[in-house]
Amino acid sequence: MSTALITGITGQDGSYLTELLLSKGYTVHGIVRRASRTERPRIDHLTLDGAIYGSRLFLHYADMQDATTLRRILLKVAPDEVYHLAGQTHVGVSFEIPESTCEFTAMGTLRLLEIVRDRPRPPRLLHVGSSEVFGNPVESPQNEQTPFRPATPYGVAKAFAVDMVRVYRQAFQMFAVNALCYNHESPRRGESFVTRKITRAVARIKLGSRETLKLGNIDSARDWGFAGDYVEAMWRMLQHDVPDDFVIATGRLATVREFLEYAFSSVGLRWQDHVQSDAAQYRAADVQALVGDASKARHVLGWQPTTDLVKLVEMMVNSDLAALQSRRSSAP
Ligand code: GDP
Repeated sequence: MSTALITGITGQDGSYLTELLLSKGYTVHGIVRRASRTERPRIDHLTLDGAIYGSRLFLHYADMQDATTLRRILLKVAPDEVYHLAGQTHVGVSFEIPESTCEFTAMGTLRLLEIVRDRPRPPRLLHVGSSEVFGNPVESPQNEQTPFRPATPYGVAKAFAVDMVRVYRQAFQMFAVNALCYNHESPRRGESFVTRKITRAVARIKLGSRETLKLGNIDSARDWGFAGDYVEAMWRMLQHDVPDDFVIATGRLATVREFLEYAFSSVGLRWQDHVQSDAAQYRAADVQALVGDASKARHVLGWQPTTDLVKLVEMMVNSDLAALQSRRSSAP
């Protein structure tokens, strides 16, 4: 049976990917950063399961700046597949901390490529790229041939990492590939992303909170998919016989305004009664309308998204409602 190593296992994608790989019989090793808090809410259901943790799932401490430890882990685990998901993934925050964003996201990827390259039998490596590499794109929708024009520090860091993966694939004949993923969300999405910020607020307001939800540019549009579908594409990419890059997207562009509409109306509310514009949430620069053409993934990998936007919004709102209700009912 195969062994996989995942960087960023505690994140949204890492948790779905771990579940997928375990269900396929893999042994999964994850890299986690040392922190004083030991809770890892997205994978606690797996790490607290005695039948899984310590037999088919293992965690190791390292971070993307610590090449020595990364190398040691790779040597010890000897994975067949490496899924590189770790990075500073918040685009807005990348304007506040551009240096560490590049350190983790760009240089971290290069470090991992160097370590993998040195292995006598290099494992297959998948790097999760981002639609942000297209920035203000020259064409719409974007595909694997669309030139990169990043518009944010995060996009620049990702463009470096994606190009470096391509260089290593060509120069060293490594099986190293990029999943060029558009925004993907789920009930496990980080709370500062606009989708989750909205669905959490909807749940609180539905259950009686009188707050107003403060948002930035609601005319901004994204191609939003379901994270569970995207990790399936990542796995398929590493099973394919030829190493290649793929755009992973739904092909449907929607505005934040539309997302608001679906989220509030799913619980019988009007978003206009609860949302306020907040200058602080506007970005120094933002990509306006990125939408992906995933036809290559559809034809070559047989992949397609299973969850449309309305279903995704409902899934997220229902999960936030259930979590809030259960917190309240267990409160003393
Ligand atoms: P991103 O595409 O990775 O930056 O994902 P986000 O969920 O952080 O942002 C998606 C879009 O929503 C961006 O164009 C933001 O400018 C826009 N947006 C509008 N209001 C907000 C807000 O309050 N928070 C965030 N995070 N984004 C917002």
